Amino acid sequence: MNNNLSLTLKEKLDSVIRNVPDFPKPGIQFKDITPIFLDAKLCDEIADYIINSFLHNHGKIDAICAIESRGFFIGMLIANKLGIPLFPVRKAGKLPAKTRAYTYYLEYGTATLEIHTGVVKPNWNIMIHDDILATGGTAMAAAELVKAEGGKVAGFSFIATLDFLKGRDKILPYSGNLVTAVAFE
Ligand code: AMP
Repeated sequence: MNNNLSLTLKEKLDSVIRNVPDFPKPGIQFKDITPIFLDAKLCDEIADYIINSFLHNHGKIDAICAIESRGFFIGMLIANKLGIPLFPVRKAGKLPAKTRAYTYYLEYGTATLEIHTGVVKPNWNIMIHDDILATGGTAMAAAELVKAEGGKVAGFSFIATLDFLKGRDKILPYSGNLVTAVAFE
């Protein structure tokens, strides 16, 4: 008998994550993760899966670096379950206090991410978390900011990776520890 209880986490995410064609521009298949947050148990399952897999690969994490904005949801849940701090990486101009910035190249133009200075404690082992890994530029920028602030990149976690965009190759030099709840080939 096939019922919802017997579905694996990957199967559940496969059915819950919604493909929105041509958003935000023609040719992009946007993965809408917002339906996940309607299901509290599913959120819990994702956070537990990430924690267990990540800690299996890397024994200790001191803090979560969560990437704006969809990285905040599960990132905060993970931090809360582990009882450790979370700090955000945000788009330029959003963080109010003194920041460090990192600019990286996109397909067209550049983007800048920022982190509050002085938040990262020396040698903290940090998990970088975002909702989706696409080309890897965003996660790479977060890793650069963490390192520049004196932290160690313990690895990366995502709800989903779009493996055909090869983002893994870009972030591998920072850590081989990459955990994702579902990978789209
Ligand atoms: P990238 O820097 O290319 O790895 O892009 C990752 C960031 O862009 C993440 O914060 C995602 O939320 C967002 N993103 C990129 N591509 C998609 C997509 N196809 N669907 C949903 N979000 C995406």
